[in-house]
Amino acid sequence: MERLSHGRTLFQAALLQSLILGHYDGAVPVKDLKGQGDFGIGTFDALNGELIMLEGRVYQVNGQGKVIKAEDHWKVPFADVFFFETDRTLSLKDISSLDELRERTDDFIKSWGPNYFYGIRIHGAFDKIYARSEKAQQKPYQRLDEVMKKDQVEFHFAHTEGTLIGLYCPSFIGGLNMPGYHFHYLSDDRKVGGHVFDLCLKEGKAEFCLLSDFKLKLPRSSRFGKIDFTGNLDEAVKKVEG
Ligand SMILES: [Zn+2]
Repeated sequence: MERLSHGRTLFQAALLQSLILGHYDGAVPVKDLKGQGDFGIGTFDALNGELIMLEGRVYQVNGQGKVIKAEDHWKVPFADVFFFETDRTLSLKDISSLDELRERTDDFIKSWGPNYFYGIRIHGAFDKIYARSEKAQQKPYQRLDEVMKKDQVEFHFAHTEGTLIGLYCPSFIGGLNMPGYHFHYLSDDRKVGGHVFDLCLKEGKAEFCLLSDFKLKLPRSSRFGKIDFTGNLDEAVKKVEG
């Protein structure tokens, strides 16, 4: 086995599971996130759209599908970010679905093993992107799986060039995040994007970044401290993010 590069740290704010349970209060300012990475995904205070961090800039895809530059003082209730360094690259052509993309990247991840985190950046020409965002919520907040039944907004983009911002989490991460892949999309013209459900990739290049360190920042509030995490949230996670 080849030597792994120096440890790079995945920084995570709160848990995907706290988001599932309706905890949308922003805790980490965008400015602080930028100190922890230049690449990543997440959401904003009050579940106000999808977060994309690319090349050190942070974008919001709002509930109208518009891409807006996030302000440094905005806060996030959940995010995963890190400093992207390219370990390996892979050329991709004629990928007809997200499942097929997962199969190709699975092959690649197997070479180091599935028990690390991986950042995946894929720039290319996409025939199709099927994505979503969501509308900002009002208090009292409902669970994420309830919110997505009514306030999820879906988009279909045809013939667009842009970047997939991806994170792979190992199977043992189940209580803190979602095992497997999570992709967001941002077009080169910074006009469209979102959380990706499906795609067709005509041609592109994937870059992989292995992450072996994990830093978790929990919100400091008695509300967060008293969330009941004892129920199994796997089904809700699958429904919301799948
Ligand atoms: Zn997402």
